[in-house]
Amino acid sequence: MVDFADSPEQQVFRASVEEFFSDNFPEALEMSKNDDPRTMRSVKNTPAKEAALKEWRTALVDKGWIAPAWPKEYGGADLSPMEQFILNETIAVRGAPRVGVPDVGSTIMVHGNDDQKKEFLPPMVRGETRWCQGYSEPGSGSDLASLQTRAVRDGDDFVINGQKIWTSGAHLANWMFALVRTDPEAPKHRGITYLLFPMNTPGVSVRPLIQMHDQHGFNETFFEDVRVPVRNAVGEIDRGWYVGATHLDFERSSIGMAVGQERILDALREFVTDPAEKSSGRSRSGRPDAGRLELVDRYIEASVARTLSQRVISMQARGLIPNYEASMTKAFNTEFMQRIARTAVQLLGKYGDLRDREHPRSPMRGRWATMYLSTVSATIAGGTSEIQRNVIATRGLGLPRG
Ligand SMILES: Cc1cc2nc3c(=O)[nH]c(=O)nc-3n(C[C@H](O)[C@H](O)[C@H](O)COP(=O)(O)OP(=O)(O)OC[C@H]3O[C@@H](n4cnc5c(N)ncnc54)[C@H](O)[C@@H]3O)c2cc1C
Repeated sequence: MVDFADSPEQQVFRASVEEFFSDNFPEALEMSKNDDPRTMRSVKNTPAKEAALKEWRTALVDKGWIAPAWPKEYGGADLSPMEQFILNETIAVRGAPRVGVPDVGSTIMVHGNDDQKKEFLPPMVRGETRWCQGYSEPGSGSDLASLQTRAVRDGDDFVINGQKIWTSGAHLANWMFALVRTDPEAPKHRGITYLLFPMNTPGVSVRPLIQMHDQHGFNETFFEDVRVPVRNAVGEIDRGWYVGATHLDFERSSIGMAVGQERILDALREFVTDPAEKSSGRSRSGRPDAGRLELVDRYIEASVARTLSQRVISMQARGLIPNYEASMTKAFNTEFMQRIARTAVQLLGKYGDLRDREHPRSPMRGRWATMYLSTVSATIAGGTSEIQRNVIATRGLGLPRG
């Protein structure tokens, strides 16, 4: 039988995390019923909450836990993958907001040179840079290697022209990491470079795309004669495809996600078993009998999600970068999020459809209907579920390309 219990060293580490939380986690950030169940973050932050968030961030930075996997010289804590999991677990259980460093930092750690590490990593730790991802284009999503945004060498600069789409957070970011075509004659995976540049570089412009739940997360990003120093290329010029792929492996591994999902399920279970909610009728308006069994299925799946994460962690502990294993985690976790949302709205019947945060009849301020809508995109972002299955088929199972 596999024993998932903490080893004695892990118990000691877990106790130190608990102690750190008791000493440093601001009360103002304790999760409440007003918080978003998917991100565990409040949808609307008050000034007091913003101040508490800053205080919490500073405590994490001082401890090196803002970038737990990174070496200490770059502001990390050199934690092992299992220690990171324990830290993530505590963060999720306490409903603490996820503050950390972007995956681009981990990519620079693998492929960047020393100058790039010194230039880009410390500002990420201090929270001074906010990054967005310039990969997808109107004609290049799943077939990302067909991208056409062109970067032409001119002395010590590249000059970029073209367009990206679905750029999450580009309107809030001050830096972009992008894949651009530097050699149009080479085979399509070969002529691509991974470039970093500030969003205020002349010639970069951003246009919003509004989603179906009325939120502004996406943008189109345009480049007109944008000059970027050649030294901002991460890894070899024309070999950026492999740098970009490392980034996606980090993005897809998401080892903290499984724990967050268990916490979301607990919130749903607590709501539907709350006597006050039962007497109001809101928590038993759906199909409680069928919903009850579905909820059990979701808990079984939560155990599967945890096991998949454990696998990724054990690979990382051996210094490996999970590839098709990360695709398994990504496909499973994102489809699982959708199933959780579906179970919730089914259990809550017509009330489950209410999304208005202020309406007195909206269960948990409309969080489940919002989650139902917002998780639709999860199986598309970072590579669709079909693409993850293609990766698993070819690299994991050795099946021929479809
Ligand atoms: C929430 C969200 C955030 C995002 N953020 C960013 C971002 O910050 N930066 C960025 O660059 N991009 C971002 N994207 C874009 C995302 O990476 C693309 O949407 C995704 O890769 C799919 O590309 P596409 O939309 O062009 O769909 P297409 O590639 O056109 O696919 C359409 C359909 O065809 C299927 N399909 C395509 N090829 C195959 C195949 N070979 N085998 C089987 N099925 C196939 C797909 O699975 C899909 O169902 C984001 C997307 C979402 C939803």
